[in-house]
Amino acid sequence: MDITVTEESPFRFRIDPRGRMSVPGVVFASRRLLPQAVGDRALEQVVNVATLPGVVRASFAMPDVHWGYGFPIGGVAATDIDTGGVISPGGVGFDISCGVRLLAADLERAELAPRLRRLMDILGDTIPRGAGRGGLWRLSGRAEMEQLLAHGAGYAVERGHGTPRDLARCEDHGSLAGADPSQVGQRAVDRGLEQVGSLGSGNHFLEVQAVDRVYDPGAAAAFGLRPGQVCVMIHCGSRGLGHQVCADHVRVMDRSPYTGAFGLPDRQLACAPVASPPGRAYLGAMAAAANYGRANRQLLTEAARRAFASATRAGLDLVYDVSHNMAKLETHEVEGVPRRLCVHRKGATLALPPGCPDLPEDLAEAGQPVLVPGTMGTASYVMVGTPGNDAFASACHGAGRVWSRHQALRQVRGQQLREELESRGIAVRPSSWRGLAEETPAAYKDVDAVVAATEGAGLARAVARLVPLGVVKG
Ligand code: 5GP
Ligand code: MN
Ligand code: MN
Repeated sequence: MDITVTEESPFRFRIDPRGRMSVPGVVFASRRLLPQAVGDRALEQVVNVATLPGVVRASFAMPDVHWGYGFPIGGVAATDIDTGGVISPGGVGFDISCGVRLLAADLERAELAPRLRRLMDILGDTIPRGAGRGGLWRLSGRAEMEQLLAHGAGYAVERGHGTPRDLARCEDHGSLAGADPSQVGQRAVDRGLEQVGSLGSGNHFLEVQAVDRVYDPGAAAAFGLRPGQVCVMIHCGSRGLGHQVCADHVRVMDRSPYTGAFGLPDRQLACAPVASPPGRAYLGAMAAAANYGRANRQLLTEAARRAFASATRAGLDLVYDVSHNMAKLETHEVEGVPRRLCVHRKGATLALPPGCPDLPEDLAEAGQPVLVPGTMGTASYVMVGTPGNDAFASACHGAGRVWSRHQALRQVRGQQLREELESRGIAVRPSSWRGLAEETPAAYKDVDAVVAATEGAGLARAVARLVPLGVVKG
């Protein structure tokens, strides 16, 4: 597919509508990052998404965009619910509510240094990870699972896994409304029963970090962050349960009369109107899986707290928890009129500006923390939502891949990568050599450039830069 991209401003590129596209494509990038998005055909997916029924404003790509299932990862698209707009499971992704949470320790980097090895050993021994090796909390059966699917992190806290303060610092208070556990099939439930409190595979991680630089002292103080401080970043999602929910509902939508009638350019965009029975069924199941993801991160938080208590005595306060694979029902102004929209953010983070009523009270003035992991060998960022973001208050979710896992495996050996990282003072606790090699920092874009483009495009602003001290890899 030949795609013409026009530079609108240094960090914003436009693909004009043609063929079946009903809106333009808008790619937030820089001249340096743009060729990487073209290279892996992610922009073809941006074009395809612009053909979805009911899509409004534009099909957006964040600066970390790369190729994904149907939608690109780093893709944002909203559809108008009241005029037949659709929901597409491919616009959420297989790891429903995959996301990041950041915890701040009352501990300085220098104080941790002599205890880092011991801390990493405890974390390495106690954080469940890898494919199908159990979790921290074994649920008793479907009835208890339905509680967790309905209430998310709230159910975990109710059962003693965390504090009410944690919930205050979670997107949606840790529990997405509209969850319908009856739409989660038995296979998904069975896969989920033993995995609550587990990282999953290679791209997921629990990383000990230090605040390396602060760009916005006011916002950093509101978030509870200061230079030199130790932090923990957790990245994981809804494990086998979310994956099964996605697969089950993609199958239903693929066979439904809607997908056939829409004449979609890619079968992976299987979808149905938000208000239709298959649309509502998926949304209810998706919210339930999202709640599983939130509970999962809550359980891992408690395990990190136990490890810190035993190795350092330091406590861990939640800075924020935000999903980057979600569809949410939100109201936004489109051409001056408030519309009820279904906003798909796939590999994209919600980035609420200051003053937004959905923010916790103590963050209302600063805005929402936007968590941007980089790689285990480079930096990660905390950003903050800014006003005037026309991508429905969305921002990047990471550095974004440039090499497929396969390509990474051809280039890098896990043992060698670990030695290299350890020689730079980064403690590595891998789950498999193969998984580690797939996640080599070289497989990702330059996170500093992605953050600069995100800021330049007016999507979010940098607050602090974090560097890795040790990583427990999924
Ligand atoms: P995804 O959700 O798309 O799998 O990953 C989100 C982002 O996490 C990636 O784009 C990448 O930038 C980042 N990432 C992957 N592995 C690591 C890691 O071990 N440490 C850190 N800090 N970031 C990582
Ligand atoms: Mn994930
Ligand atoms: Mn993720």
